Amino acid sequence: MPLIQRLSSRVIVCFKRVEYFADWMTGAAGPVFVFICWTLIALGGVIYFDVVARSFSPLGLLFMSPLLCLVPLNLYGQYYLVTHVPPGFPSPKARGEDRDISWLIPNPKSIWSGERWGFKKRRELTGPSSGGAGGYNTAPGSGLGLGDGVWEGAGRRVRRCRKCDGPKPERTHHCSVCKRCVLQMDHHCPWINACVGLHNQRHFVLFMAWLSVGCTIVCTTGYHHFLDTFSYRAEWPALTPKLGFTLIYVLCGAIGFAVTVLMLWHMYMVSYGETSIESHDNAYLAKKAKKEGLIYLNPFDLGRRRNIELFFNIAPGGYSPYTLLFPLVIPPASNGWSFPRRALPQHPPKNPSGLHAPELAEGLIARANGPASGLGLGLGFDDGADPRDHGDGNGLGGLNGHAHAEDGMGGYVMGDEEGLTDDEEGGGGWMDIGTPGLGQDQAQGHHDYY
Ligand SMILES: [Zn+2]
Ligand SMILES: [Zn+2]
Repeated sequence: MPLIQRLSSRVIVCFKRVEYFADWMTGAAGPVFVFICWTLIALGGVIYFDVVARSFSPLGLLFMSPLLCLVPLNLYGQYYLVTHVPPGFPSPKARGEDRDISWLIPNPKSIWSGERWGFKKRRELTGPSSGGAGGYNTAPGSGLGLGDGVWEGAGRRVRRCRKCDGPKPERTHHCSVCKRCVLQMDHHCPWINACVGLHNQRHFVLFMAWLSVGCTIVCTTGYHHFLDTFSYRAEWPALTPKLGFTLIYVLCGAIGFAVTVLMLWHMYMVSYGETSIESHDNAYLAKKAKKEGLIYLNPFDLGRRRNIELFFNIAPGGYSPYTLLFPLVIPPASNGWSFPRRALPQHPPKNPSGLHAPELAEGLIARANGPASGLGLGLGFDDGADPRDHGDGNGLGGLNGHAHAEDGMGGYVMGDEEGLTDDEEGGGGWMDIGTPGLGQDQAQGHHDYY
């Protein structure tokens, strides 16, 4: 028996080492990936202008000029931003220095700032306060009304990260490559050598979108030149050798296709109000809930249009949709510590099996079958021991996503508060941050780290 125990612990140690090495490799190779990325998009641009754009007729050039300006501007601008704007962290780095980015984000005079170019926030709306939750539930720049989802305070208590011992607000995850917690983490991307999170996800998706547009333009308008590279008799006035253009053209086709698929997949998740990590959780929870005849709803899913508006912060209270056309830093709609939550459905859905899986997502569970008893729902993964204090008397009745069945809502209960993936990376318990009635200033101090 001791031999087996020793063997199994040995295997676990080995696995941990492999995992640690993989994380280290991802981090160490990051700058190489970024260099490759810059080289490819720079070469692609130069070669396109040299080979294809030079052959345009004056009329064609006039017709194409908006795209010929906007695509390179956004391609290089968004890539620069996604690699330079930090994803957002709930706490300063445990060791070493945080990169100084004061010139980039809080400074409205920065050349990258949307404000500097006249893009002001259209309306200063604050979400309804759910009361007694310090400064966290009124996210600056929320721009939401009551009907649009409720800003649920992260509360005075947040989870503690087991790995870095820092605060871990909702939707925050610990990145093992960056070795710190990241606000609304999506994934760690080696191509940008950073995590995609709250502050840079907009640039990430927009970069992919503009890269898709760029590759499509190269593949369509460069098709004849591509055919010419195989002909010995064709005129070739460009400085780029034929082989160079052939290679770039094929790369554009392959990368363009892959990036377009990836971008559409991301937009699909955004439209359902979930990150890549949450998408895994939600699919798992939906399956689990379905087995028990329950419906699992994503509390951050406010409807497709609203989710997309909030993601890009172009909701009626946010910034102009024209900001999508320029590589500008636009602050996210949320401060990363609290997010607007959807209202609970008033009635159990009639046809639960017709719902799409991502709609059956994290957070709220609705009884799908039969009239709700309100009590004793027998949820396999809701132990009823809610770690948060929800009795804060917020006056929003059963609409704030924290309604228990006992509230008379008929069969809706709060879901898995701990989060499933957090079992591995969290499990650090809870920590108190701030006290009730604390001024916004001190509360802000916790989420001003980028
Ligand atoms: Zn952490
Ligand atoms: Zn990371």
